[in-house]
This record gives sequence, structure tokens and C-alpha cells, in this order.
Amino acid sequence: MNVTVNALLRDDLRDFAGYKSARSESLEGSAWLNANESAWANPSDADATLRRYPDPQPRALRSRLAALYDVEPAQLLVGRGSDEAIDLLVRAFCAPGQGAIAIAPPVFGMYAVSARLHGARIVDVPLVDGEQGLCVDLQALGDAALASGASLVFLCTPGNPSGEALPLIEIASLAVRLRGKALVVVDEAYAEYSDVPSATALFPAHENIAVLRTLSKAHALAAARVGCVLGAPELIDALRRCQAPYPMPRPVTEAALKALTPQVLASTAAHVAETRGWRERLAAGLRSLPQVLQVYPSAGNFLLARFVDADAAFAQLLEAGVVVRDMRAMPQLGDALRVSVGTPDECRRVLAALDADAVGVAA
Ligand SMILES: *Cc1c(COP(=O)(O)O)cnc(C)c1O
Repeated sequence: MNVTVNALLRDDLRDFAGYKSARSESLEGSAWLNANESAWANPSDADATLRRYPDPQPRALRSRLAALYDVEPAQLLVGRGSDEAIDLLVRAFCAPGQGAIAIAPPVFGMYAVSARLHGARIVDVPLVDGEQGLCVDLQALGDAALASGASLVFLCTPGNPSGEALPLIEIASLAVRLRGKALVVVDEAYAEYSDVPSATALFPAHENIAVLRTLSKAHALAAARVGCVLGAPELIDALRRCQAPYPMPRPVTEAALKALTPQVLASTAAHVAETRGWRERLAAGLRSLPQVLQVYPSAGNFLLARFVDADAAFAQLLEAGVVVRDMRAMPQLGDALRVSVGTPDECRRVLAALDADAVGVAA
């Protein structure tokens, strides 16, 4: 047993087996009468692919995703988006009403949502706004995690909404400081848009690191809800025991498999490259506008910008039919909006809506 991961799990879950579904038993047979499924396919289900409960961890999908992320299948759990993975981590590592997580806000909201629903405390270590942009203070985050006894530390890199890409060496030092104390969860929802390699490179030397990946962003499958946790096999086993019996609907698995062929992956990579190019053009265009105070550097497929009058900018964009994310309720972001990098035409519309003169900059 992996000492680090096992020691961090909730005491009361260490020998928890979870639900034993009919599909999880390894039996052989030719008449499957163990799951109370219907003997006939639904008349609407022409290929009769939906009658049986699906494989909880579809083997083909698991191995294709493992190859994509360069890990072994035993190091990967697939589920309903990284949102489910976040929830599983909180439930497996925080005792209800007692445990704690540490985060660096402003950051993706689901870490705090899952923690709150579970009654776990949230230890906030705000991002620092400096020369390099909005940055995680990893020293302070480590201090706070140790002082509070948090069992999970969520890092988002590239950061949503900060855009910051954390160097692997800094993630590694945090993991060393927290060894045996906390699991460092690295949410790489936007990794495809960044130059920093995946934190999976740290797995051999650091047992207390887990990585989250998703097909929702660069792979353009947000509606399919497919995401993964990557980590030590013992961690994957423990999370699987906490997961719902059949998390992967068969049509979803089929859609994901179709998106992971070499041909489709090549076209995904081309779209990512184009998005990265337009991210920089859009950033330059926004920076040239008098009403834009600051555009943060971004390693994701979005830009965080501060405005002289964010209210007016939001309204101007909406007037032109362009919906951006209002960040003003987030700590430190009272004058900020977040804009996803859309198609070239959508990027031009953003600039045109804010200033007709700026269209030339991006063209
Ligand atoms: C969009 C986003 C996700 C959501 O991923 P799903 O796989 O769609 O649940 C996770 N983390 C961050 C930081 C995101 O921005």
C-alpha cells in the first residue's frame, strides 16, 4: 500500500469497499441475468447498445486516455468531468464537517463548492497581484495548509481566471513540504494551451500529487462530461470506491473514443494552436484600448482584463451580442472581465464592440 496516500484518506473510509455493482464482479457467462436488466432492447434503441449497464471504467476509453496523458491505466480514473473528480477528492480526503482544503482565490469555484457541500473548511490564501500577474504564493499556501491541517491543496494551472502557469519545480517543492500531510491536486483543465509540461512528470518522485484533466476545453466535448484524475494506483482505487456505480454512460464513452483517434487529435491540436495565436492577438488588441487598464498574461484559452469601467464594457459587449464572464464579484477582481478566446470572427467582434478603431489591430 502506498503509505502517503493511504495515510491521508479519511480514517472511516480506509476499509470502505463502496458499492459492488453487477459489472464489477469478474464472472464469465453467456446468459447475463445478474443485474435485473430488461431481456429486450428498447424499441428506440436500434443497435441495442443501451440495454446493459455500462462498464464502470470502460477499458478502451481508460487505456486511450492513459496513452493521451502518458500514464498507466491503473493511474487514471475517468468520470463525469473534472467536477466529479474534485467532489470525489473532497469526499475521500476530508471528514464531513471536520476536514479542510486550501485554495488560492480568485480561482475556479468548484473546489469551494464541493468543500462547502461536504462541510469541509476552506482555507483561502489570496493570489498576489504583482509584476508577473496574479500569482499563487506557494510558500504562504504551504504554510496555511500545514497550520490548518488541510488534507487537500488545490492548484489550478494554468489558473482560471489568473492565466498563470506554475513551473513544475515549484509544485514539486510544495509537494515535498506537504508530504504525508496533504495531497496536492493540480487542476490542468487548460494544460493543452500552455507550454508547461503536465505535473504527471512529478509522479515518480512525489506520491502526494494528483492531476485533473478534462475533455471539456481543448477537446471541445464539454457536453459529454468526461474528465480524469491521474495519480498513484492506490489513490485511483480509493476514489473509485467513492464513485457512483456506473459513472460513464455508454453514448458518452463512444463519443469520447471517437474524439481520441490520431486524426481527430491532430485537428484538436491545430485548433489549440490557432486559439493560442488569437489569444495573443486579442490581448494586444485589448491592451491598445484606452478603457482597458490591464490584460493579464494567460496560458489558457481566455484573457482576464481590468477596465476603467467594467460595468460599461460589459454592457457594450452585451449590446453587440457578446457575452463575457463578469468577474466583479470575485475577490480582487472588482473591475475585471474574463473573455474566452473564440473564433477569429468572435475575437474581432469583442474588439469592435469595445472600440471600432481596434478592429484593424487584430485583422
Ligand atoms: C472548466 C474547468 C473545469 C471543468 O471541467 P469539467 O471536466 O467540465 O468538469 C475544471 N477546472 C477548471 C479550472 C476549469 O476551468
